[in-house]
Amino acid sequence: MLNIVLFGPPGAGKGTQAVKLIDQYKLVHLSTGDILRSELAAETKLGLKAKRYMDRGELVPDEVVIGMIETKLDQNPDAKGFIFDGFPRTQAQARALDNLLSGKNTAITTMLALEVEKQELIQRLMGRGKVSGRADDQDISVIENRITVYNRETSPVIDYYEGQGKFKAVNGMGSIEEIFDRLCSAIDSI
Ligand code: AMP
Repeated sequence: MLNIVLFGPPGAGKGTQAVKLIDQYKLVHLSTGDILRSELAAETKLGLKAKRYMDRGELVPDEVVIGMIETKLDQNPDAKGFIFDGFPRTQAQARALDNLLSGKNTAITTMLALEVEKQELIQRLMGRGKVSGRADDQDISVIENRITVYNRETSPVIDYYEGQGKFKAVNGMGSIEEIFDRLCSAIDSI
C-alpha cells in the first residue's frame, strides 16, 4: 500500500494537492477537516461537539478524530492506499495511526510536508474564505490562532516521522502544477 501523510500548516495546499494525488495514484483521500465539516452540516452529535473547537481554530480532541479515522479505514478495506490530509495533527494521533495501520498489516510510507511562508498562508486562507464560506477562513484572529496551534501542537509531528526516516520537505510555494510535480517526484523517488 501507498500511505501518505500530506502535512503542512493551514493554507499550505494540502486539500488541493490531495485531490490531484488521489487521481494520479488511485488512493483514498481522508481529510479529518472535511469529515468534521460534513458531521457539522448534518448536525450530528460529533459535529456539534467539534464545532466549538473549530470555530476558535483549536484542535478537536484526539479521541474524536482518531475514532473517525478508524471508521474510515474500516470502510475502505480494498483501498490501494490512503492520503491523510490534516491528520495526524498531534504526536498522539501519529502514534494511534501507526497502531491502526499495523493492525491492518500496513504502515505510513512517507510524510510529505508542504512548506509555505506565513504571509502567503494568511493570503491564501483569506482568499479561500471569500469563496468557501468557511467561518474559520474569514476571521483573521482565528486564522492567526490556527497557525499558532499548528506551530505549537502540530509541528512536533514532523519529529515523529523524522525519527522513522519518513519525513520529506516539499516546497509549497508556486503554482498548483509546480507543487504537484514536486510531490509526484517525491513519491516516485521512494
Ligand atoms: P482543516 O480543514 O484541516 O483546516 O481543519 C479544520 C478544523 O478542523 C481545524 O482547525 C480543527 O479545529 C479541526 N481538525 C481537523 N483535523 C483535525 C485533527 N486531525 N485533529 C484535531 N482537530 C482537527
